[in-house]
Amino acid sequence: MTSTDRTTIASISTPPGAGGIGIVRISGPHALALLKKVFRPAAHHCPYESHRVYYGMIVNPTTARPLDEVLAVYMRGPRSYTREDVVEISGHGGYLVLQSILELLLACGAELAQPGEFTKRAFLNGRIDLTQAEAVIDILSARTKKGVDLALEQMSGALYRSVESIRQQLVQIKALLEVALDFPEEDVEIVDRDTLLTTLRTEVFIPLRRLIDSGNQGRIIREGATVVIVGRPNVGKSSLLNTLLQQERALVTPLPGTTRDTIEEYLDLNGLPIRLIDTAGIRENADEIEQLGIRRAHESINRADLVLFLIDGSRELSEEDRHLFRTVDRKPLLVVINKSDLPQALQVRDESVMLARAIAISARHHNGLDVLRQQLFERLTGGKEQWQEEGCAPNLRQKVALEHAEQSLLRFRQGIENEVEHDLVTVDLSEALNQLGEIVGETTSDDVLDRIFNQFCLGK
Ligand code: GDP
Ligand code: ZN
Repeated sequence: MTSTDRTTIASISTPPGAGGIGIVRISGPHALALLKKVFRPAAHHCPYESHRVYYGMIVNPTTARPLDEVLAVYMRGPRSYTREDVVEISGHGGYLVLQSILELLLACGAELAQPGEFTKRAFLNGRIDLTQAEAVIDILSARTKKGVDLALEQMSGALYRSVESIRQQLVQIKALLEVALDFPEEDVEIVDRDTLLTTLRTEVFIPLRRLIDSGNQGRIIREGATVVIVGRPNVGKSSLLNTLLQQERALVTPLPGTTRDTIEEYLDLNGLPIRLIDTAGIRENADEIEQLGIRRAHESINRADLVLFLIDGSRELSEEDRHLFRTVDRKPLLVVINKSDLPQALQVRDESVMLARAIAISARHHNGLDVLRQQLFERLTGGKEQWQEEGCAPNLRQKVALEHAEQSLLRFRQGIENEVEHDLVTVDLSEALNQLGEIVGETTSDDVLDRIFNQFCLGK
């Protein structure tokens, strides 16, 4: 499908199942003609005005059989979702009724829309760029309120603008280099190397890195985070899990090693969904059943976005604590000292590395939990909601393209630094421009486009 594709497409745009109302959407040059064929307005209207709601019946023109009582809107392009002529028919929500309206439209010459085809047309017709189209998917699939906020920012073009401003810098640099190429015999230096390198650093590399780094936070905000509680038996892992959930779901017991397997629960942290995993006490001399739990615990730790490392403050640090700490100290870590309600036996100053910035809590008496929640949130979302200031966090596809662009630009910079011939270094520059173009949809191949729009549901 291309932007010159002149077919008229139709689809049910509301989800299957019964609802108060359901919408059939039509887009393309024959949208209005199709409406006129099947719609009998209650009052005589001719011609239809754009963006006005008309009340009437859908009637099969050949059998004269009425199908539904509806509201119809005609939106003349380009003031529409796709920039084409669009008609929306709101009928009663039953799926069979909507299906029969759709079938009537298909019989009258409309084509059944592919998943995401309305949004694809909006993109191909230049109403939105590719990041905005992808934001539509994010809105539809967002599982968190923050995810919706992020998608809305992206839909307003935040990521597009960030990528475009980097691209514009590169286009200018490229133009300069080309001018320099055209006048090789000139003595004056058209491109000042130091200025160029400074511009590259401040206007290109730094913003590019920020975008790439915000990708991981973007994923957490969209999909939620996995947090694993690790600590030797009896430090209070299950108690902490329970306290955080404010309900008794994991087994709490005074006997060490009872939580043999991992337990998962979900927690809402300021709108951020957290999968909280309580690991089995990972011990060196464990029986067979425990070994299984230990293996699972290690798997959980590998997948974790953050590890909550729990220590019992009423005891001195044991070899087991230290051993466990070494298994997780490469992960993003929050060290938590539990049982602050008991006399403290921990020698904090002897363990400065491990216990620096540790949070003291009492899972039993609910002390220090607000600080814990706040630290958890900040660690997972990157401090003071950096993504919110930037207004964008690239998804995986976009992040990969940004990383490729960064690679090309590093080669480009090296070429400039080593005074490689201009026509050679511009190859790397062009490559970076292409890679950035892929993000906004300027240089994106058809199969990538297909893959993106196939993620949509029907009718969107
Ligand atoms: P786990 O083996 O790490 O999961 O530890 P549990 O949550 O099963 O707790 C082990 C024991 O420590 C239980 O008897 C809990 O009641 C107790 N415990 C847990 N948290 C606290 C706390 O904050 N203060 C005190 N005094 N006891 C606690
Ligand atoms: Zn436990």
